[in-house]
This record gives sequence, C-alpha cells and structure tokens, in this order.
Amino acid sequence: MVELNPQQIFMKTGIEETFSSLTGRFRGDLLRPGDEDYAQARGIWNAMAARRPALIARCAGVEDVQRAVRAASAADVLTAVRCGGHSLAGFSTCDGGLVIDLSRMRQASVDPQARKAHFAGGSLLGSIDAATQQHGLVFPSGVVSHTGASGLVLGGGFGWLTRLHGLSCDNVEAFTLVTADGSIVHAGARENADLFWALRGGGGNFGVVTGFEVKLHPLRSVVLAEGLCLEDDISGLLRHWRDFMPEAPDQLKWNLNLRLAPNAENIPAHVRGRAVASESALWLGDPEEGERYLNHIFSLSKPVVVTRKIVSYLALQTMADNEFPHGRRYYTKSGYFKSLDDTSIEQMVQALATVPSPATQIELAYLGGAAARIAPHETAFGDRSSPFVINLLANWSDASDDAANVAWIRNLFNQLRPSMAPGVYVNFMSGDEDDRVPEAYRERWDRLVEVKSRYDPHNFFRLNQNVPPKKSSTMEKEHGE
Ligand SMILES: Cc1cc2nc3c(=O)[nH]c(=O)nc-3n(C[C@H](O)[C@H](O)[C@H](O)COP(=O)(O)OP(=O)(O)OC[C@H]3O[C@@H](n4cnc5c(N)ncnc54)[C@H](O)[C@@H]3O)c2cc1C
Repeated sequence: MVELNPQQIFMKTGIEETFSSLTGRFRGDLLRPGDEDYAQARGIWNAMAARRPALIARCAGVEDVQRAVRAASAADVLTAVRCGGHSLAGFSTCDGGLVIDLSRMRQASVDPQARKAHFAGGSLLGSIDAATQQHGLVFPSGVVSHTGASGLVLGGGFGWLTRLHGLSCDNVEAFTLVTADGSIVHAGARENADLFWALRGGGGNFGVVTGFEVKLHPLRSVVLAEGLCLEDDISGLLRHWRDFMPEAPDQLKWNLNLRLAPNAENIPAHVRGRAVASESALWLGDPEEGERYLNHIFSLSKPVVVTRKIVSYLALQTMADNEFPHGRRYYTKSGYFKSLDDTSIEQMVQALATVPSPATQIELAYLGGAAARIAPHETAFGDRSSPFVINLLANWSDASDDAANVAWIRNLFNQLRPSMAPGVYVNFMSGDEDDRVPEAYRERWDRLVEVKSRYDPHNFFRLNQNVPPKKSSTMEKEHGE
C-alpha cells in the first residue's frame, strides 16, 4: 500500500468532504478515478502537464459552479478551473485536488442588431465563431478553434483581428463570475469597475467567469496569402518585416513562423525538412488595396509556393487546428521586442539548424494597431508598447525527447533575452516561470494585488499566473508569522 504524507492525507479528507457535500445537490457530473469518463475527462491539451485530480466536477450551470467553489473552499481543497484545458503551463488541472470543469457550459447567443454576444465560461473559440458567423459577425480571438475562450480572453487574447479590433479582452463589455465565497458578481465599466479592469488581462485570479458579454464586428471572409521562404533568404525577410510593419495599415496582419518545412503533400519535395520562414499575410479590407500590399510583401523576399485566396472566416479560424493537436508534448517561452535587432534575427535563424523536432516553431507576430491605442492604465493586460511578440513553441511526441526539446527552447530564449523588452504575455508562459508573473504586469501589479485581496483574500484561485493577495493579519496569525 502507498503511504500518504500529511499533506496528501489532508487533501484526501478535504476531497471526501467536498464529494459528500456535492453528492445529491450537484446537477452535473462528479468524476473520480476509476469512473468510466474519468480518463477522458482528466486529459488536458499539453501532455507535459498531465495530472491526476481526485475529483472532477463537470458543472451543468452557474449554480453548480457556486456549489463546487463553496464546497472546495470550505474543505480547503486545491482547485483548478478548466475551460478549454489549453493552458500551456497546465494550470487547469492538479494532482489530488478538484477540477471545476466548465466543458458543459458552452452556450453562446448573439444579438445581431446590437452586434453583441453572450457566451458561457466553458466556450471554445470554435463554438463562439459558429454562433457569430451565422450573422456575419466576429469576436476577435485566437487562431486555433479548439482553444478555450475563458483562459484566452482573461489573459488578453491575440489573433488575426488584433490590429484592426484590439485584443479579445478589449472587446469585452461585462463579465459575470463566481467569486471565492461562492457569490455571483458582475463587472463592467459602471459596476465593480476595478474588477472589470483586472479581468481584462489579469487571468483566472479573481473567480470563475461564467459569462462574457462582448462586442462583435462584421466580417465573413478575408484575403489570405501564404508563402515559404528558404534558408538563405530568411534573415533578409525578417529585416524587411521588422522595418515594414510599424508603417503597415491596421488591416494587414503578417505573421512569420520559423521552422522546418513539414513533410506534407502541398510542400514541394525539395523543400520538405529544410529551414523555412512560413509567411501568412491577412488583408482585412478593400481587396484591391490589399492586392498592392500583398504584392509588396511577397516582392520583399523570394518565397516558394505562394498561394493567395479568399477564405471564409470559419476556414481561417480552423486552418491551424491540426498543427497543435491535443495530447502532444509542448513547452514554451515568450517575450516582446521593441524592435528586432540583427543579432536576434541571426540567433533565431541559426537555432533552426539544431531544432530537435520538426513540429517546433518560432512564432513571430507584430501587434500595434488598435491593440496599441488602448492606454496602459485602461486594462490589466501587460505592456502594449513593445509590438514584436515572439513565442518559442516546442512541439514533440515522445517523453524521452523532453530534455532535448526543453533545453533547445531555454538556450534560444537565454540568447534572445538581453535584447527583449521587459514583459511577457501571461498566456504564452510555461509552468516553470512563476518568477516572471510580476514582470508581466509591472506597474499594474499593486493594483492587481488590491483587487485580488478584495475578491480572493485567501488565494483560493491560485492555479494560474498567480497574483497573491496581501497577507491579512488573521492569516498571518493562523500561520504563526
Ligand atoms: C493550440 C493553442 C493555440 C493558442 N492560440 C492562441 C492565440 O491565437 N492567441 C492567444 O492569445 N493565445 C493563444 N493560446 C494561448 C491561450 O490563450 C492559453 O493557453 C489560454 O490559457 C487557453 O485558455 P483555456 O480556457 O483553454 O485554458 P484552460 O487551460 O482551461 O485555463 C487556463 C487558465 O485560465 C483559467 N480559467 C479557465 N477558465 C476560466 C474561467 N471560466 N474563469 C476563470 N478562470 C478560468 C484556468 O484556471 C487557468 O488558470 C493558444 C494556446 C494553445 C494551446
């Protein structure tokens, strides 16, 4: 028999209390190890962060969320909150504790006249897109449709429409959440404005968000141009991109991914496996005007296999889904640049020569546009003044390759770090970067701590890029400090 340590015994007792307090009153599913659906329900996107929670409370609605929060809080049980389970850091699960799983709460409704939508806290980006596109409307979000909306929006949210319409969190008008004492709280510009500020970028620190009210924008299709640029041309392309983007119109989103060309049918045989810059340029405006910009972009380098087509918004939002499947192993490090210096460009290009996995990517995006026109104090989201975002994303399948893949990311990050601006996007952080959370929020940190202390004084919601509350005098006494 496995011996439990005192902490594990405490957790086990707490879980038993939580389970018996929920039994008979919970409308959703209560799943424990050994139950039929448990194995499938415990899985999250990143296999590097696989854990075994002792109880999964799959909520049927807001009252279930309240019940689960109250029961776990009373029993002092470690609790994770899960929407889409895409946290790179694995914050939406835990060992031995409770998972509040919102996957049955994916309802979305649209008011086409007002150009507004309401969606529930377990929604995936794809469920929102499906509802809004019925009316030719869009909510600006991320680029992979199986990503959870709650985690993405609460951390900020970048995607194809960020330069034209701002971050996802900039398009939220109100939140409904269950706070640590189980009460329902609304937050908007005129109601709990401090909490409204904190929820736009401050992540899952303040409660379980059960509903989002958001602004929508008209859009049905876009012009998408893609190309692959080979080894010797990559550095030149990156320099052109760096110099061009600060003057580019908001309607243009031009992303670059450095990687090994996939072994896929649509890639010419002589290109497969070689280091490439994969270019995706999106034009969101008058197609004729876009033609000029896209021609210009692709004249700056010598890309092979250039394609240009009009794609529906739903096709755009799902085209990367298969590149990032559930259950593979992922590790990331991210940062911002004010500008991209030549040394950093060379470091990235040279790193491709030793990349351990063909699915690993150096993702480069330029923000600016509408996202940069929101003043720094308006939302808790971190720095908007450094427009170049880099995400080093290792993606592999075999656990025996963990060390090589993690080391490759860390080495490249350490080389680039001196040229980076301070700051990091919380949704692109790994689980080993707790020390960078204050860096993500910097001058917004003290205000976040104030809001956290008011709504979650005992840090019940701590499986996130955590902003700890101020220690209260009662807590200090309890812990003999
Ligand atoms: C394949 C993939 C593609 C991505 N693409 C983008 C992109 O294009 N743009 C971008 O900005 N980011 C992107 N990301 C990063 C993404 O924003 C984060 O991984 C985000 O956390 C995902 O949200 P989720 O709801 O799936 O996460 P979960 O793992 O469910 O949760 C993440 C965090 O949010 C908290 N949380 C979840 N739901 C709630 C809730 N209802 N109330 C309160 N707290 C909650 C959790 O407790 C946890 O701390 C991507 C990630 C992946 C894996």
